[in-house]
Amino acid sequence: MPTSPPSDRLSGEEAFELFLSAAKMVWRHSKLLTQITFHYEVKPMLDRDVRAQLLWKKDVRPRASEDALLDAAKEYWLLISERLLEEPKDVVRQVMIHEALHIGYPSHNKGFRRMAVKYGGTLTEKSTGKDEPFEVQRKDGSRYKTIKTFETERDAKHFVEKEQKEHPEDDYRMIF
Ligand SMILES: [Zn+2]
Repeated sequence: MPTSPPSDRLSGEEAFELFLSAAKMVWRHSKLLTQITFHYEVKPMLDRDVRAQLLWKKDVRPRASEDALLDAAKEYWLLISERLLEEPKDVVRQVMIHEALHIGYPSHNKGFRRMAVKYGGTLTEKSTGKDEPFEVQRKDGSRYKTIKTFETERDAKHFVEKEQKEHPEDDYRMIF
């Protein structure tokens, strides 16, 4: 039996409940939601050190228009990092709204971001604020490291273009 967490720290189950209620809030007009099975798992650490991640079989490409779910997978797996559970409940809720949006929006495209702002979800897996969600990273040995963050995608792109021209030997990427 796992020991029960201290009262100020959410359990994986509680975070999962926040995810399910976020899904019901965001996709409340979509009957499709009731046909989906959700699973969750708490992990010590996730890829790229993100705080949470939503996975599904790649045979379906989820689609949405605003808050209407047009196509979705039958099953989704929510991965929750232990690091996220250390954060205040409000932050966990914001991240869960973000993950709930991925049920219908596979990427952080414009539609996704518009909905994240509308429902109070985080814009990226990493940031909490809506301030500078666009990160530019440069390859440093075998890993990418964040060198600068931006408010808009356009600013981040301009920066990458300029850096790439000045340092053609370097390898840059943008994440958000
Ligand atoms: Zn995301």
